[in-house]
Amino acid sequence: MGAGSPDGMCAEAMHGFSAAAGPMPSAVRSRIARSCLDPLHGALSLPFTSPAYRALQTRVAALLRTLLAVPEDIDILFMAGGASAQFALVPLNLLRAQDYALYLYSGHWSRRTITEAGRYGRIIEVAASAVCRTEAADAAYCHYTSNETADGLQFHAPPDTVAPLVADMTSDLLSAPVDWPRYALVYAGTQKTLGVPGMCVVFVRRTLLGRAHPATPRVMDYGALSVADSRLSTPPVFAMHAALCMLEWLAGEGGVATMQTRQQLRAQRVYAEIDRAASPYRCLQPVAWRSHVNPCFMLPNATMLSDFLDASRTAGLDGLEGHSDVGGVRVSLYNGLDDLAVDALIRFMRDWAHARTSPST
Ligand code: PMP
Repeated sequence: MGAGSPDGMCAEAMHGFSAAAGPMPSAVRSRIARSCLDPLHGALSLPFTSPAYRALQTRVAALLRTLLAVPEDIDILFMAGGASAQFALVPLNLLRAQDYALYLYSGHWSRRTITEAGRYGRIIEVAASAVCRTEAADAAYCHYTSNETADGLQFHAPPDTVAPLVADMTSDLLSAPVDWPRYALVYAGTQKTLGVPGMCVVFVRRTLLGRAHPATPRVMDYGALSVADSRLSTPPVFAMHAALCMLEWLAGEGGVATMQTRQQLRAQRVYAEIDRAASPYRCLQPVAWRSHVNPCFMLPNATMLSDFLDASRTAGLDGLEGHSDVGGVRVSLYNGLDDLAVDALIRFMRDWAHARTSPST
């Protein structure tokens, strides 16, 4: 069965670099596959009303708390609706009628957040580059997208503002420690860093619970969800099981510090190829903002881009095309990626550049 087949199976030699779905280590995939075969308590059949499910959810929350050193005054909620639902739910749950919030614009996903949030509350948009010192003592919060997955731009430190921070960490949760005292709320869809699609983790300061706008659907009200331990409707049981497997794998690898070092080294290797003398690759982001998760780069013209992408697929590297709004090439270095994939990519980038830019003999 080849890559892209209807049942989603891929040839063994393919390395996946798509930004949309984080790769899972083979040990994690095997564990999930084995669990799916258990007809009663497996990942596909576990009733959410059972003690076993409650134990599973408690274990996932405990692992997140330990791995990210989440303090007790921050609650951990599990929700459906993807990270995009939070674009609306954050203002619905946190912004009172008289409040306003700052939203930092830094690229594709912050643009989408700003557009959606503006439908539910009073917001002020600020360019990310202007936030070196954004005094906003009376803002309810300041929202930013810690890693712009489409643009290859990342905040390597939280923005410098006195407002409590709200962050979309969908593409970089668990790849760096979080400075919790600065945060009101952090959210992340699970599909890139925590397993499979279908769930969003929300870390929210307990003092902010219970202030949702009256029109907020009850199943999306952070306060009501907290009281019900995230079980106001059937939770995404399969995604919860996948998260457990990913988190236990991550803990066994050495935790967030190991992931951070590994990702930085991998990103350095990719940027070294981009920056190599006479390289045809061009990174559009300023060096200080370059993403360690999704390095993006351009090629001189459309013909070279299409040749690069075709040749990469032939070389067994899948999913390197840039986001549809941005173009170019995008590499995704999520935690579950295998070292062999990074080695294969670096080799390919070097060989392709050499073959296309050396004068023919
Ligand atoms: N925020 C960021 C930073 C993302 O990268 C994505 C998905 N690529 C989203 C939000 C949207 O996530 P979802 O599809 O789970 O709504």
